Formats: sequence, structure tokens, C-alpha cells
Amino acid sequence: MRACSTPALDRLRSALPADRVADDPSTRLAYATEASREPGLCGGVVRVRSEAEVRAVLGWAKTEQVGVVTRGSGTSPTGSARPLAGELVLDMAAMNRIVAIDPRDFAAVVEPGVPCGTLQAAVEAAGLFYPPDPASSRFSTLGGNVATSAGGLRAFKYGTTRDYVLGMRVVLMGGELLSLGGRSLKDVVGYDLMRLMVGSEGTLGVITELTLRLIPAPRARLTIVASFADDEGAFRGADAVTAKGVFPRALESMDRTTLEIVATAAGRAPEPGVGSRLLIELDGGEAEVATEARHCEEGLRAAGASEVLLAKTPEEQTRLWSERRAISSSVSKMAVAKSSEDIGVPRSALPEAVRRIRAAAARTPIRVLAYGHAGDANLHCNFLYDPRRPEEKRHLSELKREVFEIVLGLGGTISGEHGIGTKKIPYVTRALGPLAVRISQGVKRLFDPDELLNPGKLWPAEEVA
Ligand SMILES: Cc1cc2nc3c(=O)[nH]c(=O)nc-3n(C[C@H](O)[C@H](O)[C@H](O)COP(=O)(O)OP(=O)(O)OC[C@H]3O[C@@H](n4cnc5c(N)ncnc54)[C@H](O)[C@@H]3O)c2cc1C
Repeated sequence: MRACSTPALDRLRSALPADRVADDPSTRLAYATEASREPGLCGGVVRVRSEAEVRAVLGWAKTEQVGVVTRGSGTSPTGSARPLAGELVLDMAAMNRIVAIDPRDFAAVVEPGVPCGTLQAAVEAAGLFYPPDPASSRFSTLGGNVATSAGGLRAFKYGTTRDYVLGMRVVLMGGELLSLGGRSLKDVVGYDLMRLMVGSEGTLGVITELTLRLIPAPRARLTIVASFADDEGAFRGADAVTAKGVFPRALESMDRTTLEIVATAAGRAPEPGVGSRLLIELDGGEAEVATEARHCEEGLRAAGASEVLLAKTPEEQTRLWSERRAISSSVSKMAVAKSSEDIGVPRSALPEAVRRIRAAAARTPIRVLAYGHAGDANLHCNFLYDPRRPEEKRHLSELKREVFEIVLGLGGTISGEHGIGTKKIPYVTRALGPLAVRISQGVKRLFDPDELLNPGKLWPAEEVA
């Protein structure tokens, strides 16, 4: 792979409308990293407006042998949208048209740069529902969501982005166009190349159009917050809810450290006697939601909840959600640096996983907080450390390895929703086994033999023995 050069970028400029390509230092700096905040090296940026332009860019890249990193809105925390060695960044954000919302086919056709939240609002106005809801939905694009198979708050009941992709158009390295799936709700012809694209982190092709599945909008919604005295109360509460036969659309937990950090960042003292909280959201028909709320309250109190609050109006619901929504910004405000690991385990193993992770962190100077999607046992474990202290960086690296061993030993995964990017490559062979990695490396070579699409992401550089 070659880095962008001025003559190569000039040839790209001449193939596209005038304002598309930029390589001034401030633009290159802005695109050198994403939410991972790890430094990268950007050789130039192209902001495309159409599929034809994407095809021209990938034709140019193949001829020039220049690496290309596709970018939605850069909210990936794994380093997956970050150029490493002077690649061209292909910015898809301006391809942001909702092409169609079809209530009869239960389908939406969109360009990949549409933010997830924009589609959610548009389909809800039509009485429909697009369930995938990453916490970044206001900013992250549907193309990025599909390329990472984003999960989020409603995955427990409704599944992840993977479950809502009906069709897509993908431009391959060199410029060929691959059309997969469509509006048929069932389709079993051949290998499932569309699912292969989902979660492929921009390493196999560039998505230029998506057909997404919609469902009818639920008529009622109700939020419940339950407080517990100890750190593991929230997990007992989550089990109590599902044991009652209730399947909430969101089932989120926050541990004591998370609650302390959110309170301190907001300038108030942590609530005395509250060691964890569970945030539940129910949806469905009016009567069904009312019955489920009653079952939940009974279960939560039996599991030891010291307080159970119910919110029916949108204003009350927003208030109950505010603590959960404030976590990310509060942690950024209160910590010098954090490493966030979105581990997943079988639901029954979640309390044990958190116990062992806390015990491992207690042997180091690193503070750990655990919050997230307790419903599907996909927790965000944040490790807070000071990168100016070399011994803390060493502890962090050892701790992360230990945490991944803990979750894999319990039958879990090193990433439930964020993916691999660059940050988790050292652990991917341990997680999947050498045979699965070798087959995947072969698939990558089939689509992109010159390693030009998002180079250095997802798989180790050397072929695994
Ligand atoms: C505050 C915050 C909260 C978050 N909450 C969640 C959450 O709840 N659940 C969750 O799953 N994630 C979450 N994330 C992570 C992130 O938002 C998701 O991974 C999201 O799907 C990335 O979308 P993006 O548009 O920002 O893509 P980018 O970060 O720009 O790119 C991500 C990957 O997708 C590829 N890509 C982007 N567009 C295309 C395309 N058109 N064709 C091919 N490849 C493409 C890129 O090359 C890269 O590999 C969160 C992030 C933040 C900062």
C-alpha cells in the first residue's frame, strides 16, 4: 500500500467535482483520529456525494495502490475509522438522504451517511419503528452502524443492527458494484454475503445504500428505575424481572462507582445507601405495559430494591434516563484517561464476571466502573488510569489481558458491540481460534487482495499459523 501523494491526489481531484478532495494540514489533522483518540496519520480526505463518486475513488485507489479508510461520523472507540499510515479518508457523511420509507414493505431505503437518530424520528412520524439504538444514535451514521453491527439500548428485546438489514449496495475495491438482498423479508439464496458485510468494519467494501427493516411502532412506553443497596443488586433485579416473564426493551445497570462519578461530575454528593441502579423500559400495548410494570415492581422489591420509581410521561422518562445518559460525559470529565471494554458473557455468568473483574482491578491502582446493557449481559467496563504514570499503563495492559481471559473462560466475548478496530487485534486470535482467523484472512484477501481497504484493522497483519 502507498500513502497519498500530491500527484495521486491531483489525479483524484481531476476525476471528481472541484470541492471533494482536501489535503490541507488542519483537515488531515481532524481526520487523523476518531472517538478512540489514538493518534493516526491521514494523507487526505474525500467527501463524496454519490455512489458514482465512491466508485471513482475506489477505482483510483486500486490504480494508485493507495489505502482507503471509510468514515461515517467517527464515533468508533476502537480505532476502526482511523487512518494509520497516510491513507485517504473516505467521508460518507454527505451521502445522507432518506430515499424511501415504505410502510407496506416495512422497509426504509437510506444512504449510509444518515444519522441513526434521524431515521428513527422519520419512521416514528410514519407510525413505524427502527429498533437499533446505539447510545451514539444522534451522531453515528447508519453506514457505520451496519459496518460495526451496532447494538445499544434496545438490543435485549429487539436484536442488533444485524437483524434489521434487508439489502445493501456495496462498492468493492477497484470500483465494482455489488448488490445484495432487497425488500423481500425472507431470502435464503446462496451464501449470506450481506451478513458478511455487516460488522466487517470497512475492510471488505464501502456501503453506498441500505435497505433496513422496520416494524410497527409500540403504542405505549414506561420507564422504571430501581435502586439497590449493594453493587450486585441491579443484577438480582434484572433476573427478577425476566423470571416474571417480562422482556423489557431496555434493561440497563449502573454500579456504585458509576453512580458516584455521575453525581460528582454534576456537583452533588452520591446518594447515601444506593449501591447500584437498574433502568428498565417497557413497551407494547397499553394494557400489556401496565401488567408488565406491576410484575416488574413486584420482582424488583422481592430482589431487595429500596426504591422503585415509575415514569409514564415523556418528561418523567427523560428525567429518569438523565443519569444513564450522563455517564459517558461524566467519566470524560472526571478521569485523566479511560479504557472502555464492552465485554459480553452469557446472562447467567454476569455477576461472576463482574466480581472477578473487580477483584483483578483491586490488585492494581486502576479504578473500574461497570455499567451498560445488563439485559443482554454486555457491560461497558471502564478502566480509569493516568497515562502519565508508566506503571499504570503497564497495569492496564495486564489487567485488560486478565479481563479478556475471565470473559472467555466464562464463555463470553471480548466485544459485544464496538468491534475490534486496532485496539483489540492482539486478543482476536485468542478469542476466535487460529482456524477462524485464517479463514477470515482468506475472505479479506478474496475481496481486497492488495490490502487497501481499511488496512491494519480487524485481523493480525501476519497470517496466523
Ligand atoms: C458516546 C458514545 C456512545 C456509544 N454507544 C454505542 C452503543 O450503545 N452501541 C454500539 O454498538 N456502539 C456505540 N458506540 C460506538 C459507535 O457509535 C458505533 O460503533 C457506531 O456504529 C459507529 O458509527 P459511525 O458512523 O461513527 O462510524 P465510524 O466510527 O466513522 O466508523 C466505524 C467503522 O465503520 C466503517 N464504516 C463507516 N461507514 C461505512 C460505510 N458506509 N461502508 C463501509 N464501512 C463503513 C469504518 O471504516 C469503521 O471501520 C458509541 C460511541 C460513543 C462515542
